[in-house]
Amino acid sequence: MAVAAGAFAARKTAEGGDLSFQNNVPDPLLSGKELPTFKFELEKSKGKVSGNSFGKEATVEQLPISKGIAGVSMQLEPGAIRELHWHATAAEWAFVLKGRVRTTVINPAGQTETNDFEPGDIWYFPRGHAHMLQCLGNEPTHFILIFDNGYFSEFGTFSITDWVGHVPKPLLAKNFSLPESAFDGFPTGEVYFARGAVPPAQIPENLQGPRISPPEAHKFRMLDGAPHAIFKGGREWRIDSTRFPISTTVTGVILDLEPGALRELHWHPNADEWQYVIDGDVSVTMFGSHSRFRTEQLRPGGAAYIPQGYGHSIENAGSRPSRMLIGFNTGNYEAIDLSAWIAGNPVDVLATNFNKPASLFEQFPRKDVFISPNQ
Ligand code: MN
Ligand code: MN
Repeated sequence: MAVAAGAFAARKTAEGGDLSFQNNVPDPLLSGKELPTFKFELEKSKGKVSGNSFGKEATVEQLPISKGIAGVSMQLEPGAIRELHWHATAAEWAFVLKGRVRTTVINPAGQTETNDFEPGDIWYFPRGHAHMLQCLGNEPTHFILIFDNGYFSEFGTFSITDWVGHVPKPLLAKNFSLPESAFDGFPTGEVYFARGAVPPAQIPENLQGPRISPPEAHKFRMLDGAPHAIFKGGREWRIDSTRFPISTTVTGVILDLEPGALRELHWHPNADEWQYVIDGDVSVTMFGSHSRFRTEQLRPGGAAYIPQGYGHSIENAGSRPSRMLIGFNTGNYEAIDLSAWIAGNPVDVLATNFNKPASLFEQFPRKDVFISPNQ
């Protein structure tokens, strides 16, 4: 645990995508003869349930390897609010899968932003910036949350009812210049999911009147734009901090693969990777040095985690197109692909390295493959 805490502290000093972060001490979990499991069946877990709302977590508790990133699958039923709260130890990034959701977030300058989201939209709330999430309309909303810290949940999420419910009434009365009786009947414990009426279509006024919008938007319409890249076997949307400036610590990807297509062998020099299967059946491999190699099969609702620097690949192993949501704990996306590495080295080196004739390597791809179609 001490090792993990140290690594976490180092990463926090590198906030903003600073590339100086390095793991100096090996994680004991990754130092064994075998690689540990790197998948978790997120949607099959129970999580926290209230009526037709739920929050299912994949933190280090459920997926011990996932120290750098946690994920949550959350559904809110009509009229439900994920109550006002903040995360002391993590920024929050989200992708909306289904339904509509309204958020309000406040920054340290006291500026609040309220946005309405639809499927394919994303949000980003910096660490410690308080927010709420509210289902819009008569259908439930379902979204995937990504946190840039695998330990975000335990002792890291601060809810308004939990706080107000434990402050002595005289102190509350003084704080708000109200009689103590104003706080009679307030919840005495954490509400987490609050239930009420379906909110109005128009965003209601704040108590303070007209809003002063923050300089950087917390919302981005990820799937509204064209994919970042299109290949014969698939396509990728990728939104990092160059496209979505407030998202300084998370890059989000939607990866579509045709049956049999492969996101080729690669690694990320500066970030961990968290995966969630929206659709399809995929096979994920991971290479961990010292002869260690592991394959996991993921189905819809399954999550997986690749530590920074570990080699990996993603293959659509099913008979229908696959779609994955992938998050990285950096705002500056970096990757090195095996095909580009080989194509970028002198042929004589390749011949000697593999003890094969140079003519063989003349047949290799001459540039980065990224996604290889089914053969
Ligand atoms: Mn949150
Ligand atoms: Mn990757």
